[in-house]
Amino acid sequence: MNHVRHFVDNALVDGVGARQGEVFDPATGERTGVVDFATSADVDAVVASAQAAFPGWRATSLARRTEVLYRYRNALVAHRDEIAELVSSEHGKVHADAAGEVSRGIEVVEVACGIAQLVKGEYSENVSTRVDAYSVRQPLGVVAGITPFNFPAMVPLWMFPIAIAAGNAFVLKPSEKDPSASVRLAELFAESGLPPGIVNVVHGDATAVDALLGHPGIAAVSFVGSTPVARHVYESAARAGKRVQALGGAKNHMVVMPDADMDAAADAAVSAGYGSAGERCMAVSALVAVGGAGDALVEKIRARVSGLRVGPATDPDAEMGPLVTAAHRERVASYLDAGTSEGARLVVDGRHHPTSGAPGGYFLGPSLFDGVTTSMSVYRDEIFGPVLSVLRVDTLDDALELIRANPYGNGAAIFTNDGRAARTFEQEAEAGMIGINVPIPVPVAYYSFGGWNASLFGDLHVYGPDGVRFYTRTKAVTSRWTRDGPASSALAFPTSS
Ligand code: NAD
Repeated sequence: MNHVRHFVDNALVDGVGARQGEVFDPATGERTGVVDFATSADVDAVVASAQAAFPGWRATSLARRTEVLYRYRNALVAHRDEIAELVSSEHGKVHADAAGEVSRGIEVVEVACGIAQLVKGEYSENVSTRVDAYSVRQPLGVVAGITPFNFPAMVPLWMFPIAIAAGNAFVLKPSEKDPSASVRLAELFAESGLPPGIVNVVHGDATAVDALLGHPGIAAVSFVGSTPVARHVYESAARAGKRVQALGGAKNHMVVMPDADMDAAADAAVSAGYGSAGERCMAVSALVAVGGAGDALVEKIRARVSGLRVGPATDPDAEMGPLVTAAHRERVASYLDAGTSEGARLVVDGRHHPTSGAPGGYFLGPSLFDGVTTSMSVYRDEIFGPVLSVLRVDTLDDALELIRANPYGNGAAIFTNDGRAARTFEQEAEAGMIGINVPIPVPVAYYSFGGWNASLFGDLHVYGPDGVRFYTRTKAVTSRWTRDGPASSALAFPTSS
């Protein structure tokens, strides 16, 4: 039985409290481990060690920090498959998908390797006579990250490489459902030369999160998870005077215009709707067919879905794995009845899909609803499973209005061959990330990731330039190094001369 411990001061440590959570293999339903749940005393201890380590790391030269990051990047590449296997064993996603999330995480580390360029300030000489002005970016101190189950490697890697490269110390509270990958990520960073206390992992549930949110030693909090918890984190951390970015849930729309390449659109809908069993914050869950696009689209998706191989990550041909827990599987399956009773047409019922997995695994095949309307729960709720809903509208304006009326605003995509439609969509769609003939428009690591409205509380997106802004604060310096300037004891407010 695997015992997942906290990682503090570059070592695995047991929690001081007795509470633990259980970890399961979603592909078999077997309990494979236990994870220590931090108490507020555990959180105090980890924050104290991070606080002690921060001044030394902050004073470490950019050249030396960059060296550690380069080594870390190479270690992650060398251990990509091992980390992916850890992800699959606790999350359930198939190997190619897990390796893909590690790769996207590595791209953030590669951007963090350029930290020397990213934290440069500005300089203006002679802003007043013999007076110069400049700005510097300084780290915040000890910052915390709280992450969801669905990307146990990539989402932590969205946060801590940039924060640490910028000179902060980091405390990560990963999802208790699949905690092992984050510990391995931290160990590899430590082995790459990171001093003790700079990257730390504490496990747990709301107790650990709330201890971090109220802790006076934590300067900023990055959160990724569901919208209700994101709102709680945003409000609590802000009330405690912290800088906070809290990314929430999503309902992502993919609009298909009648002129689109229908085969490409169907391929994209299948990949974005059912990849990772729909457990992606950028998964497409609402397919909006414009004009006459619906019939062909539904038929092409139905044909593709019937051939999808559902099975465990140990099956090299499996394309879609199980859901993360038994309870989540039941919740997702319940929407198949709910949608039907609300009047949608269940074109494909995933409950009857064959699987190569063990009977105890939390498998649920891909499902497709047609004739969904905005009042139905299958549209309103974030199902977070392999359930795709097709809505039909007359015009692009109708599609844009539908997206605008939805409370979320993470990603939105359009499939079309009409440049004008694409441009209108890009300009007007109410979402933080737009795809044009790209179904999952997760920005590359040198841009930033973030949604709008109920998909993000806070001002700055994660990683990329916004990540650097989030984990640093600007200091503006006005400097005079001369004795022959216009000395003055006037009490009037100083102006430039
Ligand atoms: P979740 O909100 O249940 O959990 C996220 C984190 O918050 C975990 O670390 C968990 O331990 C902690 N947590 C849970 N309940 C809490 C509470 N009451 N108080 C304090 N902390 C609490 O989310 P999840 O189920 O792990 O992940 C799926 C959700 O995350 C989906 O809604 C998905 O859309 C969202 N998500 C969003 C993004 C994004 O970038 N916007 C990315 C990935 C996932």
